[in-house]
Amino acid sequence: MARKDSILKLRELLVYRRDALRKALAGDLSMLKSLPEQTGGDVVDAALDAAQDEISSQLAEVESRELAQIESSLERMREGTYGQCEVCEGKIPLARLNALPYAITCIDCQRASESGGGGSVSNNWGSLVDSDFSYTD
Ligand SMILES: [Zn+2]
Repeated sequence: MARKDSILKLRELLVYRRDALRKALAGDLSMLKSLPEQTGGDVVDAALDAAQDEISSQLAEVESRELAQIESSLERMREGTYGQCEVCEGKIPLARLNALPYAITCIDCQRASESGGGGSVSNNWGSLVDSDFSYTD
């Protein structure tokens, strides 16, 4: 019973977060569109704008990825499979769900997959740094 209440609370939180992300993404996109028109003739300004443009679009990518995770969490809540480990089908502890509402595996299965295949999150940060070398002397 307490677990169900906690999941309902998490659901409210996820819905709120989803709406906030949607707004942020909509705002980011309109900002990105307006950038080229505001750019003057200054090369440095243009370079800075390009860098900010790059960062904004990468942030938007991260945000839309989070949005997708939220959507699938809400989907699982509708199906009644939220909080259930996708690998071993055991219950994911509430403490873990509170810390990481999009968790789809329990800690044991998460660790098992991390030691096996390597984390995808750190790879994303790696690609952020990689794409940063585009400036030239
Ligand atoms: Zn598991």
